[in-house]
Amino acid sequence: MPGARPRVAIVGAGPAGAYAAASLLRAHGDVEIDLFERLPTPWGLLRGGVAPDHQEIKRLQDTFDRETLASGCRFLGNVDIGVDVSHAELMRHYTAVIYATGAQTDKSLEIEGEELPGSWAATEFVAWYNGHPDYRGLEFDFSSPRAVVVGNGNVAADVTRMLTLSPRELERTDVADHALEALRESRIEEVVVLGRRGPAQVAFTSAELRELGHLDGVGIQVDAAEAELDPVSRQWLADEGTFTARRNVALLEEFAARSPQTSSGRRIVLRFLRSPVRIRGNHRVQAIDVRRNEIVRSDDGRLRPRPVDGDLETTECGLVLRSVGYQAVPLPDVPFEERRFVLPNEQGRVLTPEGEPLPGVYAVGWIKRGRTGILGTNKRDAEETVSCLVEDLRAGALPEPSDSGREKIDALLGRRKPDLVTVEGWRAIDAQELEHGRSEKRPRVKLASREELLAEAGSQTPRGPR
Ligand code: NAP
Repeated sequence: MPGARPRVAIVGAGPAGAYAAASLLRAHGDVEIDLFERLPTPWGLLRGGVAPDHQEIKRLQDTFDRETLASGCRFLGNVDIGVDVSHAELMRHYTAVIYATGAQTDKSLEIEGEELPGSWAATEFVAWYNGHPDYRGLEFDFSSPRAVVVGNGNVAADVTRMLTLSPRELERTDVADHALEALRESRIEEVVVLGRRGPAQVAFTSAELRELGHLDGVGIQVDAAEAELDPVSRQWLADEGTFTARRNVALLEEFAARSPQTSSGRRIVLRFLRSPVRIRGNHRVQAIDVRRNEIVRSDDGRLRPRPVDGDLETTECGLVLRSVGYQAVPLPDVPFEERRFVLPNEQGRVLTPEGEPLPGVYAVGWIKRGRTGILGTNKRDAEETVSCLVEDLRAGALPEPSDSGREKIDALLGRRKPDLVTVEGWRAIDAQELEHGRSEKRPRVKLASREELLAEAGSQTPRGPR
């Protein structure tokens, strides 16, 4: 069908996919976009990752909606690409496919006891408190007075806040009802956050670190000796330290100088140069063994943690959250770079194992660049990928798909996914959640099971996309 409008499938309706759709509509208005999503709801980590007490960030969903779904981009939810529809099928139906599938699994610590009940990937806790339907059934035990969070990134900051906020504060958020109920009964008094390197190397952004020291009724404790920089880090900060690193070091010095907490509220203890070596417990987590590190500069110039000989410290705890980063998983029939956990790509053009561009296949977000950057980073990233796609379209470099035409993919989806969720279905879910939220004076009350979401979307009744 020469002259037909190009049709682009974006796989993954999280921030990277939404920014890519918006950017593509801006750069090439004459294009049809289908936004595929495994869940019945769009916006990925904006809905299921961003912490419930960061509602101001969640408002970005209005922008995503306005710039994508309300601008003619279709939402095709509850469709798992690679399971319900294959990559080859997408390529037969679309001029181009942009993968925006993010990084779904957690990195392992590879230490003994990691699998004990009570030791969780922080990503599981995050998905659970954010009402991700696949995690609703998890049961966290908050009955011990101490929890340990491993890692010094923004996810560690999020889960630390969620463990220390009072029920009154949690009630003002859209935290999932099942999580609110369980956290209300929490007996946690102290959250210890373990950083394997020092204050100059934390991965927190400064706003997130500052927030940890300003939570209502929550004390922060940093040992002055641990806040003091070692000579290698001091030199690094003076010569090449980033603005964020300087800010973070100053914040940690300020926390260390605070007088010890005397009130009975919860407290956050930030530890540095400490790596977990073993999680211990009889049938469930009871303690974590931690070794001390020093900072050394390795041949590649990076500052690395090196174990220091000496005794291990044992910290008793009933909950361990491992927050040491996410990893992408390979997608069926699409090249994958095992070492970096990304789709091999050049500026978003996915490459074959021989290093040649794979015509019509693109990547954006964490699956393109690895798990770095904050939400806004995806905007520039999407613009880069989209400009390559538009350049290829204009150069006539993208082959005409054999089954082009919206009705053909719609017929396929009609057969395979009678419970497909369209934009109308999502709007029904959204309206219901917001309405329930209004009645409880909360931003929204989430539907947190696939059954409830699909029932509300009305997609139990077989029908095709529109
Ligand atoms: P991250 O920023 O990469 O932090 C991972 C942390 O885990 C680092 O402190 C890292 O230390 C540590 N770590 C890695 N392997 C370890 C090991 N074996 N033992 C002990 N510690 C280990 O990852 P993230 O927190 O999952 O966040 C992912 C991305 O999402 C980041 O770009 C983050 O900024 C973003 N995010 C942003 C927000 C926000 O803006 N509010 C919220 C959540 C997430 P080393 O530095 O020593 O490797």
